Amino acid sequence: MAEKKKKKIVSADDGKEVTAAAKKKTVKEAAPVGNATGLRIGAVVLWVVAIALEVVALLILNGTINWTFMPSLWQIIIALVLDLVCVIIGAQLWKKANRIKPASKKNKFLFWLWNNMGVIVCAFAFIPFVILALTDKKADKKTKTIATVVAIIALLIGGVASYDFDPVSQEDLSAATAAITDNVYWSTFGKVYHTHEDCQALNQSDSLTMGSVEQAIAANRTRLCAFCAKKDEITGVVTDKNPDEVELVDDVQSGDENGEPDETAGEPAA
Ligand SMILES: [Zn+2]
Repeated sequence: MAEKKKKKIVSADDGKEVTAAAKKKTVKEAAPVGNATGLRIGAVVLWVVAIALEVVALLILNGTINWTFMPSLWQIIIALVLDLVCVIIGAQLWKKANRIKPASKKNKFLFWLWNNMGVIVCAFAFIPFVILALTDKKADKKTKTIATVVAIIALLIGGVASYDFDPVSQEDLSAATAAITDNVYWSTFGKVYHTHEDCQALNQSDSLTMGSVEQAIAANRTRLCAFCAKKDEITGVVTDKNPDEVELVDDVQSGDENGEPDETAGEPAA
């Protein structure tokens, strides 16, 4: 646990000091960012295993591998499911590596390709099976049909799970680390990081993780909270919403003139 700076929080309504204890959150330190190269090696190894499992499934289908302890359809399904598991875990390692050591987005096509290597591998891990199964004349028709359907479903699941919906570029990471040198905070299920641990979007979160921007991005919090960006007037950093379109509320007591809790402002973004 790092020593937390004790903040003096003053209510804007009456200028009275509000004890921080009322809003006390547990803050734990983030894990180290990790080693991108190690993650990439892990991903590639898993992807090679995935392709090998696809080959095994094909060899079972065409009768080259003839294990008799279990119906061959089941063996094929097991091989394809294990293939899918390797594809998905590999892609998660790959995506994590790209959060730590992102690629440059100067070349949009290469940037997309690099970030979505998992999707490409997924295609190689199932499409050849589908094509070869469909064109196999000797294989049992029912086995062939069911195995093909399983492979197509696996292809779709693996593709979606491997796709990087939130890619980070080298430029994004440099901009964020240049603009924010202090610690940032994020919640367990939050998708963004915050420069303020008492940010209005964190009202619902009792436990936070604290770390550098690199650590936040490595932990898949790829964007800065728009409220925090607005508050600190940070520009040039990827945010979850347009900071100009969010409304800041007083971070101590969010309420209107009547002291009623404000329901409209401060929708938790994270
Ligand atoms: Zn925030």
